[in-house]
Amino acid sequence: MRFSVLSSGSKANCTFVEAAGVRFLVDCGLSGKQAEARMAEVGVDPRTLSAILVTHEHADHIHGVATLSRRYGIPVYANVGTMERITKPRGREIFKTGSDFCVGKVDVTPFSIVHDAKDPVGFSIRAEGFKLVLVTDLGRVTTLVQEHTRGANAILLESNHDQEMLQSCSYSWDLKQRISSTHGHLCNEAAAQLLHEIMHPELFHIVLGHLSENSNTPGLALQATNRHLERCGDRATGLQTLLCGNVYESLPCLEIDGVSSRKAVVNL
Ligand SMILES: [Zn+2]
Ligand SMILES: [Zn+2]
Repeated sequence: MRFSVLSSGSKANCTFVEAAGVRFLVDCGLSGKQAEARMAEVGVDPRTLSAILVTHEHADHIHGVATLSRRYGIPVYANVGTMERITKPRGREIFKTGSDFCVGKVDVTPFSIVHDAKDPVGFSIRAEGFKLVLVTDLGRVTTLVQEHTRGANAILLESNHDQEMLQSCSYSWDLKQRISSTHGHLCNEAAAQLLHEIMHPELFHIVLGHLSENSNTPGLALQATNRHLERCGDRATGLQTLLCGNVYESLPCLEIDGVSSRKAVVNL
């Protein structure tokens, strides 16, 4: 199983996943052209994609979904609330939030998250004995999120803002309220706390995602996470990668194979 965060941030989100011989995207907030370019960076031909899974209908997650779907004949997987906002995709595969579905031999659970969208979800993706969890755009960590992230071998987790930087940035009071509300976006501290809770020796890759460019920096997000991971002791021994996603370039493909855990390279 492997994945590459092609774009992550308030402007555009898109992740490539390959497992059990199936390739798909989760979200595509990039334009069709940009998504093709990012896929080329990691050596992926869009004609080999079998699906585009969508978390929720915000533009930074769906902007290029229908274009790619039509251009390459790729079916779109979403719940009813999200699907309503995707205009004329080539194929529609409706899933129910909370109910497992399959893409080839890959098992997927879309789980509910709190965010100001119709029916937003995170995805738990399982294949080849490994579990990858993608969860961004959540106002707070619920029990359900804790349950689904536990046991992950790799995770893309939102680390949207630094609370102090958010309060002092130039955003309007309304926007600050929206972001920091329970239906907004997850702050560095909350993300780091969740990672501390779920850390185990077989959590190999952590990608912090959906970083705000106005109320966060990769340095602050990594600092918060590192502070909490340092207290994990032996539970963090398997960690190979700690990276921040960004909207400018794709991250390298991270292999979830459990093999190279001793050659730990943690990007700080
Ligand atoms: Zn959103
Ligand atoms: Zn978003």
